[in-house]
Amino acid sequence: MQYSEIMVRYGELSTKGKNRMRFIKQLRRNIKDVLSPFPGIEITADRDRAHVYLNGTDYEAVAENLKEVFGIQNFSPVYKVDKSIPALEAAVLEIMTSIYKEGMTFKISSKRSDHSFEQDSRELNVTLGDVVFRNFPYAKVAMKGPDINLQVEIREEAAYLTHERIRAAGGLPVGTSGKGMLMLSGGIDSPVAGYLALKRGVEIEAVHFASPPYTSPGALQKAHDLTRKLTKFGGNIQFIEVPFTEIQEEIKEKAPEAYLMTLTRRFMLRITDRIREVRGGQIIVNGESLGQVASQTVESMQAINAVSSTPIIRPVVTMDKLEIIDIAQAIDTFDISIQPFEDCCTIFAPDRPKTNPKIKNVEQYEQRLDIDGLVERAVAGIKVTEITPQVQQDQVDDLIEDLL
Ligand code: ATP
Ligand code: MG
Repeated sequence: MQYSEIMVRYGELSTKGKNRMRFIKQLRRNIKDVLSPFPGIEITADRDRAHVYLNGTDYEAVAENLKEVFGIQNFSPVYKVDKSIPALEAAVLEIMTSIYKEGMTFKISSKRSDHSFEQDSRELNVTLGDVVFRNFPYAKVAMKGPDINLQVEIREEAAYLTHERIRAAGGLPVGTSGKGMLMLSGGIDSPVAGYLALKRGVEIEAVHFASPPYTSPGALQKAHDLTRKLTKFGGNIQFIEVPFTEIQEEIKEKAPEAYLMTLTRRFMLRITDRIREVRGGQIIVNGESLGQVASQTVESMQAINAVSSTPIIRPVVTMDKLEIIDIAQAIDTFDISIQPFEDCCTIFAPDRPKTNPKIKNVEQYEQRLDIDGLVERAVAGIKVTEITPQVQQDQVDDLIEDLL
């Protein structure tokens, strides 16, 4: 027998009252995005459950992907059989033969939404339980906590059987908590920050600052690859590449070395905030972690943060590096993050950046620069790419062109 569909149970969203249908619609869209590499499947979603119809697609591969989607609490692979007693008996026998081991307890839980079916749920429990007893004489029933809970559902079109419940990611469906601009470098921390924001339902757009020719196409590719890893939790992500070369050259030329980092970060934040405004986001997400590097002292954060009043979410701010690395490994971004492509900050990084920059000095140095013009040109030059779970051929072509 082959699984015909996967029955999906929702997570926390069941508590969200009148927003429920909005949540469910969003989750359905996200599942569709995440499962886009499997063109054969179909998805429906109602108030209580979603259904992924496999139409012959390999269950294991689909399940692996489904496990990661935020907003799903758990799911069950389901067998579809004819709505007749002989067909149900045969199916129960086949399933039990493949999973029953000596000493196990079991239970049949029938449910009938088609009330015209010849047996009611209690009768059906007895009929199908008898099949088990006849074939496995030592099998014992346990109403509470059985080893095998074989659920049978009689619906209008057919009967459905399942005995598994696979735990999924939980969290909230991505897109149900507004939109945040994720400042995504090529490092370890920002993808983890993005993952944690996604977990709480924030749709993210990845903003990446690139300074060609100082940064290589490899660094950009890395940021793309990291973004692609993040699509498995809630679907496609807009990737926004910001041209940052002019700004970095300007700062390097006109500001003292010790303040390069602070000024650079202030520009990044201004630009990200501007992009957020244009694209209808509410918050900014970054991968700052307290005390990790010079830009991440509280004084630095204060000086950098001063250019924007938009809420900035820092999901990893109080985590140790090792805790962050654990998550990076679990979400499979670590190996990409440690690829040795320098990003724009490393290349322009001063040897001894100021760890306690003074706002007064910062503002004075910035007077030497045409802030509005620089920000405007950077924002005008952004390139937006939709990143999907599977690499699209035109993106490969683009990259090859960049490399040549
Ligand atoms: P990460 O591992 O995320 O690179 P980090 O520990 O290296 O973080 P920094 O380099 O100081 O720390 O960067 C702090 C945060 O600033 C990053 O987590 C990211 O959110 C943002 N950031 C840094 N560089 C870039 C970039 N090139 N594009 C977009 N955001 C960036
Ligand atoms: Mg970094």
